[in-house]
Amino acid sequence: ALPIIYAITPTYARLVQKAELVRISQTFLHVKNFHWIVVEDSPVKTQLVSELLAQSGLRFTHLHTETPKEHKRKESDPNWLKPRGVEQRNLALQWLRENRELSEEGVVYFADDDNTYSLRLFDEIRSTKRVSVWPVGLVGGLRFERPLVEKGRVVGFYTAWKPNRPFPMDMAGFAIALQLLLANREARFDLLAERGYLESSLLQSLVSIEELEPRADNCTKVLVWHTRSEKPKMKQEELLQKQGLGSDPSIEV
Ligand code: UDP
Ligand code: MN
Repeated sequence: ALPIIYAITPTYARLVQKAELVRISQTFLHVKNFHWIVVEDSPVKTQLVSELLAQSGLRFTHLHTETPKEHKRKESDPNWLKPRGVEQRNLALQWLRENRELSEEGVVYFADDDNTYSLRLFDEIRSTKRVSVWPVGLVGGLRFERPLVEKGRVVGFYTAWKPNRPFPMDMAGFAIALQLLLANREARFDLLAERGYLESSLLQSLVSIEELEPRADNCTKVLVWHTRSEKPKMKQEELLQKQGLGSDPSIEV
């Protein structure tokens, strides 16, 4: 049977949340043997996400855990100050360890809600034996970052930012065999990881660079983009609200 792809998506309430989730869920609908693990950064499962998942047509698991206050980014903090979605991804790993057997073939991918995914990416991911890797577009201040491949092996990385990190890769640039995660039950993301070291904190305990499996034509094709949505401006909404004329709050956006 085709191994199941488990996509783990941390998500949090904000104006663009529903738009992001609709967008990626409709991409995922095209992927066979797919299971979406959505983890809300929230003290409760929200109605918005619950209903969206129920209506999505996808096989899904809905979890939630709120990022501890001292680790949560404030509106005024620059977006790089604290790692985002860490406890949520770890909870999804815990769920897999509690609910899946070592005998099951599967692949785990960390799919943030704002990235853009080519369907071809999932064909590449499906055959992951341990950890597979590929380029990510529009990331790290570059057109793309990518693993460098020689004779079918990863020998280094094309990246500009902190190139000495153990695994200088974005979250969107690798997938992990379910069995490897189930066999290494302690492997998890480090909430206290220094900026840029989150991916390394998980991968270091699972794999060495020589073992990485290059995908996307020896890491020469970009099949995922680290897109980021602009924060919508609410100038008029706020002005109207002051006059008691704000938009109907019963209409979900
Ligand atoms: N995220 C979250 N809680 C937060 C901020 C972000 O769960 O307080 C999620 C977000 O929805 C996304 C992932 O974590 O799926 C990465 O966040 P973001 O896209 O903001 O990070 P960046 O693209 O800047 O690395
Ligand atoms: Mn993002």
